[in-house]
Amino acid sequence: MATVEELKLRVRELENELIKCKQKQSAMDKAHNQEQHRPKIDKMSSEVVDSNPYSRLMALKRMGIVKDYEKIRTFTVAVVGVGGVGSVTAEMLTRCGIGKLILFDYDKVELANMNRLFFQPHQAGLSKVEAAEHTLRNINPDVSFETHNYNITTMDNFAHFMERISFGGLEEGKPVDLILSCVDNFEARMAINTACNELGQIWMESGVSENAVSGHIQLIIPGETACFACAPPLIVAANIDEKTLKREGVCAASLPTTMGVVAGILVQNVLKYLLKFGTVSHYLGYNAMKDFFPTMAMKANPQCNDRYCRMQQEEYKNTASGETVGETEQSLEELMAQMRKL
Ligand SMILES: [Zn+2]
Repeated sequence: MATVEELKLRVRELENELIKCKQKQSAMDKAHNQEQHRPKIDKMSSEVVDSNPYSRLMALKRMGIVKDYEKIRTFTVAVVGVGGVGSVTAEMLTRCGIGKLILFDYDKVELANMNRLFFQPHQAGLSKVEAAEHTLRNINPDVSFETHNYNITTMDNFAHFMERISFGGLEEGKPVDLILSCVDNFEARMAINTACNELGQIWMESGVSENAVSGHIQLIIPGETACFACAPPLIVAANIDEKTLKREGVCAASLPTTMGVVAGILVQNVLKYLLKFGTVSHYLGYNAMKDFFPTMAMKANPQCNDRYCRMQQEEYKNTASGETVGETEQSLEELMAQMRKL
């Protein structure tokens, strides 16, 4: 006999299936009327012809940068937040031929978003995930898409979010390979952090400041590198409800430039991590005022408030071969001192 919770989860799954069917149908109808879809491509080829959408990517092999570019088709990446950074991130991964994208966002496209890249005025009013899937499918029909139009921080949705990142991989039943946080608030970041610590899931965090002139990306390997709760921003540490900080009529600034740069360094790090080339950044900041790109690595905090983080640290200690994050690894105290100087 299924419990009420299990049934609720099942209802939500079926609702999502229905939404997806409707989206596919409407995307197909629209495509029929106005767009030309290319057929799917079974195997990525390096053939240099104008009609091959992958020739420039496969050339990375000939240039000696990537050993096995085709492997990109085996990966599933979940993108949480399809706004100024997340939408551009999803587009880059789609153009690179990622295997599967799972998009999470509860918001709708608005004209107030038009100062950023990706969305177009005629999409105003559509859900961001629905509009994004339609555009992305048209750009690259080889990519599999799964979209969820909800806020991951509510209890029911969080359970479903955990379920999809645990089992929503390209091969159903397998976990996703990577989660990208492209959200604009701490509550959602903490939800992703909690889920990833519990599941031991590697993720990357990204952020752009409210004054639009700085941003960062960060790689989080549970138990190994600092999680979001290991060195929490003051607002999280002091348990302040961030909604109470938002002043009426005052909105955050944003620039397509800063958001594009942050999406670019985020996806660059994703490609390096998945396809194993170059050095994967543990933290890379961007200060637009001074064109300054600080990098650093942060160890997990043994006193972290998240008990799953502490458990992952124990596990890492027991299994790791003494390998550390990198030579630049710093203690939290050193790091805070450095941040204050910036
Ligand atoms: Zn932690």
